[in-house]
Formats: sequence, structure tokens, C-alpha cells
Amino acid sequence: MNQKYTIALLPGDGIGPEVIKEAVKVLRSLEKILKIELILNEVPVGGAAYEAEGHPLPANTLNVAQSADAVLLGAVGGPKWEKIDFSLRPERALLGLRSHLKLYANLRPAKVFPALVDASSLKKDLVDNLDILVVRELTGGIYFGEPRGVDTLVDGSRRGFNTLVYTEEEIKRIARVAFDVARKRNKRVVSVDKANVLEVTGLWREVVSEVHSEYDDIILEHMYVDNCAMQLVRLPKQFDVIVTTNMFGDILSDEASMLTGSIGMLPSASVGGKTAMYEPIHGSAPDIAGKGLANPLATILSVGMMFKYSFGREEVNHKIESAVESVLDQGIRTRDILSHKMIEVSTEEMGDRVVSELEK
Ligand code: NAD
Repeated sequence: MNQKYTIALLPGDGIGPEVIKEAVKVLRSLEKILKIELILNEVPVGGAAYEAEGHPLPANTLNVAQSADAVLLGAVGGPKWEKIDFSLRPERALLGLRSHLKLYANLRPAKVFPALVDASSLKKDLVDNLDILVVRELTGGIYFGEPRGVDTLVDGSRRGFNTLVYTEEEIKRIARVAFDVARKRNKRVVSVDKANVLEVTGLWREVVSEVHSEYDDIILEHMYVDNCAMQLVRLPKQFDVIVTTNMFGDILSDEASMLTGSIGMLPSASVGGKTAMYEPIHGSAPDIAGKGLANPLATILSVGMMFKYSFGREEVNHKIESAVESVLDQGIRTRDILSHKMIEVSTEEMGDRVVSELEK
């Protein structure tokens, strides 16, 4: 019997549906090549779901996501929904999906494809062959800690506060994710904290070291977040896997990914629960939506991560990465990564080119 996978497709808003359409071409092509069966269930999310059903994450969308083997999301948000109540904004769907699917670890590779080495703002020798993975804790820390809010002091002035909190269990599980993925890479983990100032990240450092005792094949180093931010632009190739808290990870993963210079190229995975979620790191890009200008490669590479992390098929991820690399080597570019003497193609043509490389 053929292997069968159910994938929830959540295209969302702006360029979301355009890039998901190209990822679907890739999935249908893989279905033929690998002789597998893929059930693709498409449901609305974000602004599209708000328009259709009055909520950015309708119950049916959540059900379809929860019962799938993996979720592929495009992007959500746009100017049209900027003025509606905070709780109904398209971006709230992301938080809802992460918490319901129990996705406590966000994996963000920052990889430089040889053909795009000049897209980085750093010198070529600093970034060629760069391959970093940031593992960000996603469901705890200061973004979720209580108490939080803004109150008024007795003198009438206002005070804002948030709470940075991590339990030992939360630190242990994210540390394990980092050490496990490092095992499949170059076996080096840098754990990032601010242990010199924040007690909670002192605990983070202690617990990560304790978990490390179960992984004697992995080299662990601790680094303060300010130093890490500096080292990422000074000598980025010193890193393999970086593991850190929700807020530090939010900032450092953006910094690391921008070393590659191409937002349209970067995939991500959010894992931890039964069903993982895969998405490009970019947003809905309302400025280019509907114009055939969106780069679908981040979403196509997210499909690769899905095969690697959800379906245990690392070789399929390699196959997709190689197909993307060949297309880039031929000088094929969407506008965002276009440079001198390269051939500009539309979103759809880029998808077609990847498929034809896969099917070679
Ligand atoms: P953005 O990532 O959508 O766009 C930033 C810039 O990069 C724009 O100039 C855009 O044209 C370009 N760009 C992004 N993806 C591209 C692609 N695949 N190909 C070519 N160019 C691409 O970020 P933004 O403008 O800050 O946000 C726009 C909307 O997206 C907002 O509503 C924001 O809240 C939302 N957003 C959603 C997600 C998500 O769904 N995960 C993430 C970030 C932002």
C-alpha cells in the first residue's frame, strides 16, 4: 500500500494563496515521483477566514489542522484588517494555531544558496555556505507570562509590565529539540541567555547544561544574547544550532535569516505537538499581492522541512533543496532576488521550474 499523508493547507491572505498554489504543484509532483498519496485539505485562515466566517481561526479550520499529519500555511494579515479588534486580527490565528497544536519549538534555518551569496549585506566570504538553524521557544517566556498589562500608580502615572517566566519542563523540552536536531547536523549547540542579569535565564543555562549531559556527542556553548547578536554579524559561520527563549529567538532568528538577504527564500517549521506547522518566514506582502511577483521558494522549501521533520523523509528535503539550487544555478529569479544578467520569472513560472527539476 502507498504511504498516505493528510496535509492541511491554509493559504491565508495577500501572497499566501499564490505561494501555496506553487507548493501544491510541488506536492502533486512528489506524489507521482514518490508513489505516495497526499490528501490536501484547504481551509481559510486569517483575514480570508474573518471575511468568510467572522473569525481568523474558525473551528473547522482548527479541526482540519489538528486532524492532519502536517499543516502548510501561506501568510496572514494585511491593511484591510488593521483597524479591527485585536482579538479578531488575522495574525491572532497564528497564536491560536501554535497554542492549540502545542507547537513549542520554532525551527528557522538561515541557509545561503551559493547562487545567491551576493544577496547578503555581509561580505561573500563571511556568508558563503552559511547554514544556521535557530531553535526558538515559542509558547512560553515574556510573550505569555502573567501578570502583564498597564496600570496606573497612586501618583496618576502609568506603568507597563510583562513577566518573563520559564518552568524547568519548558526549558528541558526545547533543549532536547535543539540537541536532537544538532545530532542530524554539525553537532554544535549555542544556548543563548542573559544569565548575568535575568534569574530566569540563569535557570535556563543550568537546565540546558543538565539536559546536555544526556547528549555527550554534542558540543554545547552558552552565550549572552548581546554577544550573540554581535557574533551573528561578525562571524556567522561559527554557529550551527542556536537555542533560545521566545523573545531572544524572535529577534535573533530575524537577524540570522537576514544574513541570507532574501526573505522570499526562507522556510520555517513549528514543532512539538502531534501535528507540526510549516510556513515561509515572510508575511502576506500586500505590496506585491496579485502581481505574480511573489517568490514561492520559501514555501516550497517549507514543504521540504515537512517531509524531513513530520514524515521522516530527509531525502525528500534534499531532493527539493537540490531542485531549488539547480533552478537558481540556471539564473532563474523572481524579482526579489533578481540581479544583473539573470532571467526574471513570475511566481507560477518559478513553481513550474522547480517541478521540472524535481521530475528530471
Ligand atoms: P512581509 O514579509 O509581508 O513583506 C516585507 C517585504 O518583503 C515587502 O516588501 C514584500 O513585498 C517582501 N516580500 C515578502 N515576502 C516575499 C516573497 N515571497 N517574495 C517577494 N517579496 C516578498 O512583511 P510586512 O510588510 O511587515 O507585513 C505584511 C503583512 O503580513 C502584515 O499584515 C503582517 O502582520 C503580516 N505578517 C504575517 C506573517 C505570517 O503570516 N507568518 C509574518 C509577518 C508578517
